[in-house]
This record gives sequence, C-alpha cells and structure tokens, in this order.
Amino acid sequence: MKKWFGKITRPSRTAGSTHPEKADPASLPLAPGHGSGIEAPRWQSIIEQLHAGSQLQLDILRQALNLSSAVLLWAGPTPDQLSVYSFSGAQDRLLPGPYRLGTGVTGAVLKERSELLLAPISSTSPKIPCYRSHDQVGSLMVIRLPLPQEGSWTGNLALLCLDRSDPAEWSASDQQMVRLTAEKLAADAVQARALYQSDREQHAYRRAFEGLQKLNAALGLNSAFEASARAIRSIVPADFIGLSLAEGKRHRIAYVEGENAPELQGQSFPIDQGLVGKVLKYSTSLPENADYNGTSPVFSPAHLFAEYRSLMIVPLKQEGGGSIGALIVASRQQGKISSSCRTILELVAAQVTVKIDLAHAHEQINRLATIDSLTGIANRRAYQRGFEAMLERARRQSTELYIVLCDIDHFKGINDRFGHPVGDEVLRQVAKLFDRVVRTVDLAARTGGEEFAILLEDTDKRGAWKAAERLREFVEALKVQAGGQMVPVTISLGIAAFPGDGNSLEKLVSCADKALYRAKETGRNRTLVYRDMET
Ligand code: GH3
Ligand code: MG
Ligand code: MG
Repeated sequence: MKKWFGKITRPSRTAGSTHPEKADPASLPLAPGHGSGIEAPRWQSIIEQLHAGSQLQLDILRQALNLSSAVLLWAGPTPDQLSVYSFSGAQDRLLPGPYRLGTGVTGAVLKERSELLLAPISSTSPKIPCYRSHDQVGSLMVIRLPLPQEGSWTGNLALLCLDRSDPAEWSASDQQMVRLTAEKLAADAVQARALYQSDREQHAYRRAFEGLQKLNAALGLNSAFEASARAIRSIVPADFIGLSLAEGKRHRIAYVEGENAPELQGQSFPIDQGLVGKVLKYSTSLPENADYNGTSPVFSPAHLFAEYRSLMIVPLKQEGGGSIGALIVASRQQGKISSSCRTILELVAAQVTVKIDLAHAHEQINRLATIDSLTGIANRRAYQRGFEAMLERARRQSTELYIVLCDIDHFKGINDRFGHPVGDEVLRQVAKLFDRVVRTVDLAARTGGEEFAILLEDTDKRGAWKAAERLREFVEALKVQAGGQMVPVTISLGIAAFPGDGNSLEKLVSCADKALYRAKETGRNRTLVYRDMET
C-alpha cells in the first residue's frame, strides 16, 4: 500500500493547477452563475474538499490503468478557456494554462461526442492542449464529465484526459472504469455545488437577520431607512435601493441610494403609475420572479430602469392589508434576486412599515401634545417652548422679539348670557383669526381660558402694533350668532418687546400683562404698548 502511494507524483500547487487557495471563486466549477457577490465563509473548505477528492480519483485511475498522466480540465476562468483543475502524473509534462477551449482534443470532444479514444495516436491526432508534447503518448482517452446542463454556464463543461505510453486499444473494462470515474467526479461536483449554494443561502440569511436586528434598534426614520438599505445589501448586490411612501394620490421617494439618487430624492409620482403604482394598488411584490427587461416604467414612463435586469418592488404592507409605500431594489445583473432574497426583502419591508407606523404615531402624539384641542392652535406648552427658542434666537442674533397678549373682553358675561357652548364657539372663531395676522415664522397660541398670545420675530414696534390692531379689528367684526342674537366679541391687547422691556421671559410677560391690564382699565377693545404706557 505504502509503495503504491509512494509512486504518485503530484503537480506543484502553482503549475497550471487551479488550486483553490489561488483560484478566483467566480471561475471555479461550482454553482452555475453562482455568487450573488456575497460569498459565504465556508465556500473555501467546500471547494478544497472537491479539489482534493478529484485529485485522489485521478491518482487511483492512473495507478489502476497504468496511465502516464490523468488530467481534469474545467472551463474557466473565462467562458472560452479551459484550466487544469487537477492532475496526476509527471508535472514537467504540463503547460501552464489557461488554454483556449475548442482546440485539439477539446474541440473533437465538444463537437459531437462525449468521448474520444485514440490508440495508437499518430502525428495528426488532436493534442491535449495542456501537454508540452505528445512524444511519449501511445494512446489517449478523453471523456466529458456527465454534468447537468442547466443554463448556458460553461462551468458545466469538464474534460477528463488520460494517456499512456502503451499504444494498445483501450479495453472495455478500462473504458468502463474511466466512465465510472467521470460519473463520480461529476456527482462530487454537483454535490459540492448544492452544499455551496445552501451554505451561501444560510450565510445570507444570517447576515440579513443581523441587519434586521440593527434595523429594529434604529432610532428615527432616516436611520431605519439606512439600516434597511444595509440589510438589503447583505443579501442582494443592489445597484439601486429606494423607499417611496404614499401621500394621498401620490407617492414620494423618502429614501434612495444608487443611480440618480439626488435627482429622485423627494420626487413624487401619481399613485396609479408604473410598477410601484401596481404594487401599491395590489399590495403584492412585483415583478413575479424579479426578472426585468428594462422596459416597464418603475415610477412613471419617464423613469425606465433601462440598465437593470433584476428588480423587486415590495409593498410596505400594514396589518389591515393596505400599503403605505414600497421598497424598490434593483441590480444591473440578471438573476440576482432569488425567491429567498424576496422573502428577506419582504421581512425588511415589514420591519420598515412598523417603524413608519411608529413614527407616525409619535408624530401624532407630539402634535396632540402641542395643539389646543378646542381651537386647533398651539397650546400653552408649545407657546412656552416656542417662546424660549425665539428668545434665545433673538438674543443670539441681537434682534427684537415682540409679545402680544390678548384677552377676550367680558368673556364671563358671554358665557353667562349665551351659555358655555357659545363661549366655546367664540373661542374657536377668535382663534381662527390668528392665521390671518401671523406669518408662518410667528407663533400664535391659546395660553389660557380666553387668553391668547402672539410672538413676532423680525418686526418692529410699528409692525407689532399693526398686527395687534388688525386682530382686534377682525375680532370686533366677528359675527357670532346665538339664538337669533349677535354675540358682541371684542379683545384687549398688551404689547412688550425684547430687549427694550426686559431680558427674560417672565419680565416680558409681566410687561405685556401690565399693558393689557391698562387696556382693560381704559375701556377695553384696544391695544396698548408697554413702552408707550411708561412714557
Ligand atoms: P375681562 O374683560 O376683564 O377679561 O373679563 P372676563 O369676563 O373676560 O374675565 P374673567 O377672567 O373674569 O373671565 C374669564 C372667563 O372665561 C371665566 C371662565 O369661565 C371662562 N372660560 C375659561 N375657559 C373657558 C372655556 O374653555 N370655554 C368657555 N366657554 N369659557 C371659558
Ligand atoms: Mg382673562
Ligand atoms: Mg377676559
């Protein structure tokens, strides 16, 4: 036994042999079209085992059939090339590859048959392309491995080339042994491919779930979008990732990565257009098998994804069934979004939907916490916060800030005379008028029962006075009816200014309040400026 193995000479790891450590995984004869660009960590050991197994098969065959050499050629690294995958024999006979596919015996085997037997060989016989010379070759046998021919991938092409110095015919049992070896080599390769594929999928799942965990932990919508994009990239070599959210009859791109990202960010499209429109309408992922030929509009007819060949649009489905948006993932390469990828994309989409729902709920809570429920304008809390922020800004920028306090005149009397619901209606009607006197930069709030305040930035005494007087006039002109009677509504107003009247919030409020009190004292339905009152 020992002696038997002692005779075996192995090729050096570099002499034309595609040793797994050196090999480019993309060129290895494993999964057809394998690799989504995301490699699993165990692929190396699977490939090494396949390689070692094939080496052993060649050694056994060489010993058993008394061969000079046995070589296994596999298509690659490019589709028109062949390389030595494993070799048994005298290493100095080998020419470093790769070799052009279709020359010598490879051409003969490829043309019409799966086997070629030459015994004895002549000077005109086709050559094994990886041999330096055929000087000592008496007979030759080449057989194509019976690999499953799925797709057009050249990785399904492998040739087993054998030669010996004896020019005698290959016996039937020799041939049978070679065929069995070819079958065994092919079966090993198929098994390795399957292992590789499942290893890669497991790896992709692991990475995707890690990504989902990060997405779950992300705070804020934008970081949730970024985390989902990272999770998606761990399973799909995406050239484009987008998230579009429904807004009434349109949907708007809230997040986008990839080609034309800056141009698309924030753009909105009609909800009934393109593939995204269909996904939103039917709440189902499209296209069916992620195959895309670049001709169906994605967002609108103006937005073809002409260079993309893999596309998956997944709805952001809510529990009730409707969709609040869509996740769009595209790759320029074909066949990059498998059905397992689609499952993960749908998981990412579900997680993002939860995040968006939560953010909306939060927004709603925040809005409710700052809005006065009776009148719909800012409440006391929002006024306090706004006041602090505006005062800080005025201090920083050395600008004036005006506070106008308003109080409805004889409101108690309105309640008493017309009833509380009418009092409420008066409050609502008065509150509506603030919109007509304040700019978007100003703040109007209901600060108490029948008390309101306006904060005006970037104005002067005259501007503040004018705003207050307009409001007073609008209120005076209000026509609130109660039981066939007109409810007389007027307000009194007091104005104070930063920095002229004070530096602190409390001081400013107290000055404006004094002016308001004076306005009440001196007849009501009037505006008084604290500064004027002092002089
Ligand atoms: P003045 O002209 O001096 O301001 O007299 P006034 O009656 O308006 O002032 P007072 O502060 O005595 O009365 C305010 C009244 O506003 C008392 C309270 O019942 C009423 N009020 C406070 N909040 C509400 C509310 O939400 N709805 C209604 N209908 N009334 C309210
Ligand atoms: Mg009052
Ligand atoms: Mg009042």
